[in-house]
Amino acid sequence: MSEDRRAFFRGLARAAAEVAGPAAEPPPEPPRLEQDAVDRYSRQLVLPEWSEAAQLALREASVLVVGAGALGSPVAAYLVGAGVGRLGIVDSDDVAVSNLHRQPLHFTPDVGVAKAHSAAAKLRFLNPDVVVEPYQARFAPPMLEGADLVVDCSDSFETRYEVNGACCEERIPLVEGGVVGLAGLVMAIRPGVSACYRCAFPEPPPPGSVPSCAEAGVLGPAAGVIGSLQALEALKLLAGLDGALLDAFLQVDLHDHAFLRVSTSRRADCPDCATL
Ligand SMILES: [Zn+2]
Repeated sequence: MSEDRRAFFRGLARAAAEVAGPAAEPPPEPPRLEQDAVDRYSRQLVLPEWSEAAQLALREASVLVVGAGALGSPVAAYLVGAGVGRLGIVDSDDVAVSNLHRQPLHFTPDVGVAKAHSAAAKLRFLNPDVVVEPYQARFAPPMLEGADLVVDCSDSFETRYEVNGACCEERIPLVEGGVVGLAGLVMAIRPGVSACYRCAFPEPPPPGSVPSCAEAGVLGPAAGVIGSLQALEALKLLAGLDGALLDAFLQVDLHDHAFLRVSTSRRADCPDCATL
């Protein structure tokens, strides 16, 4: 084509563009899951209760798990496996040989290693797409920064009330849990919307009245059941699924498989959530 004809066609194209006006902005493409994510999460994506939108919401979410032990192991493994975006895991202890029967994120060679780091190493193997942040420390409220949800897997009433108070103050949804022997409890909380842990249990039990796992013992699968229920509640809250344990707690006695859903409600005088 001659230079003259090229110039002629360029001029024609310019004139046509001027007549048509500026091109309309195409509507933004909704975010889509990549093929490897579709493969990884295929068995939950096919659920009628789940969806690509739920999966994308989970990927945007940041969760803090307080405790990397008997409850924290299943909770963190299921949330990381399911594809949460970021998971912080808090524990000040080192792995002890007496932990191993009930804390499946820790293996015999980990004895003496900080639990938060031992857990994080396994979780990164499980799903390298998740940002895993270990905190070798006791829980402190500044750790809540950026968290969309907290799962309390601690083993002391002191920490449980501290976590509840801090989550209420920051209005961060919380899943509580506890286990001893063959019995446990699970509760989901939306501060300011549903009963908090202190609404349901206004006072901690007197010191020494509830035996610890070291005193009363605990079977690994019992902790696994309670931790799995906590992970389930966390996924329900994060993805907006129906049926979360709000304004209720589940009391579980695995001696005879008694699951009792106990209704509770907000207290007007709750020091943690009444003003929300
Ligand atoms: Zn309350």
